[in-house]
Amino acid sequence: MTMPVRRHIWTTIGSCLATAFLLWPLPAPAANPTRLPPLPLDGKLLELPGTGPVLRVKDKDFPLIARTTWLLHTLQDKRLVNHEIRVEGEWQPDGTLKVNHFYTIHDGKLFRVRYFCETCNIEALEPGNCICCQEPTEMQEIPVAPK
Ligand SMILES: [Zn+2]
Repeated sequence: MTMPVRRHIWTTIGSCLATAFLLWPLPAPAANPTRLPPLPLDGKLLELPGTGPVLRVKDKDFPLIARTTWLLHTLQDKRLVNHEIRVEGEWQPDGTLKVNHFYTIHDGKLFRVRYFCETCNIEALEPGNCICCQEPTEMQEIPVAPK
């Protein structure tokens, strides 16, 4: 009967410890056992059952979060699943990767993804229907010059 309460206490203690750790004056960087790969990071965009989008690099999966909701919707676009992408972003303290920008990769070249309505000649931010004519937009990949 006391289990939920006890669990709650441990969760609270856990968050306090986590906060204390974050406020601690710079521990040795080597203390982190899971070294995160440098950014930008190339990998395969996957949508695993029950989770959000992940970036698979070799045999490791890094959960992705996005800077904006429209970016998240783009990462969840089924047409982009299994594509090689390059993620520019920031590692979060919990090991998730916050995506600021991403590109698709074809033959080592970078492309940006856009949603376009040919009828209205306008670009949409995320998958879905055109805000103007309400017809489905087309997903396009536009080559970008490497940085
Ligand atoms: Zn339109």
